[in-house]
Amino acid sequence: MIEISLLEKRALITGAASGIGRATAKLFYNSGADLILVDQNIYELNETKKEIDSSKKNNYKDNSKAKDSKVEIYTVDLSKKEKIDKLWDKIDETGKIPDILVNNAGIYPFQDYLKMDEKSLEHIMDVNLNSMFWMCQNFIKRKKRDGIIVNISSIEAIMPFKEDTIPYSISKAGVISLTRSITRDYGRRGFRANVILPGAIRTEGTNSLIKKTIQTLDFKLVNVGYLFNKRLAMGRWGKPEEVAKVILFLSSDLASYVQGAMLPVDGGFLSS
Ligand code: NAP
Repeated sequence: MIEISLLEKRALITGAASGIGRATAKLFYNSGADLILVDQNIYELNETKKEIDSSKKNNYKDNSKAKDSKVEIYTVDLSKKEKIDKLWDKIDETGKIPDILVNNAGIYPFQDYLKMDEKSLEHIMDVNLNSMFWMCQNFIKRKKRDGIIVNISSIEAIMPFKEDTIPYSISKAGVISLTRSITRDYGRRGFRANVILPGAIRTEGTNSLIKKTIQTLDFKLVNVGYLFNKRLAMGRWGKPEEVAKVILFLSSDLASYVQGAMLPVDGGFLSS
């Protein structure tokens, strides 16, 4: 039986207070990794830690040899470069630079392109793309050799489906370019970087969008929702854990020769 183990590995996961990030944190913990969890939402980040701590107790009950993985949390607004640099300075002081970086935090606001101003565009680019740019830079600079990066893009990067998401789509397309450029420039130093394109994953983020659509009874949005669901070749939405499993695979030795790959985890949306 092949088992995916992250024992002796240290992983930094952003957006760990919710959805895909939280599911990844739990799965990585169960695979033996020490964790550095980052998010701006301190309350929910603590909830992630609590859930991990309680599963820790159960593990100990079931398995006396279970490893006591360490979980550290950091509240950071990733839209600010200086805050990202400070985070890495603090990590550096511990003398333990992570082996794996999962850049997952992101926002998906809907905004009319013709009404957008500079500040709104800047914010979306700062959170979705620039944060990953600076996180990867700090990681490569401080780790120097042999690191694993998994960046989270979106199906919208290559298949803009929903109106009013131009800044989102371009930010996520940038994440693909960033990832593939890193593989070219740093692959020979032992860095392995891949990018996941999730689609139709039920998370706190997408749930609140669905709620808004229902509450406003916006016919245009309801229609987009209908067409979107129709494209799902598997006929259902995915769970955050189904993305987390792919992030785990890409972070493990099972993916030792997977470099610069764009992997949709979208129930077949892009192939319908
Ligand atoms: P989610 O449930 O909304 O969780 C995202 C987390 O990131 C939240 O805890 C959020 O905090 C945090 N965050 C947002 N801005 C931040 C900032 N400036 N600094 C630090 N943390 C910040 O999202 P999700 O659905 O799991 O999505 C995760 C990633 O997958 C995103 O990059 C998203 O674009 C991508 N994705 C998801 C889907 C999907 O179907 N779910 C599809 C395509 C791509 P707050 O709660 O305070 O905002």
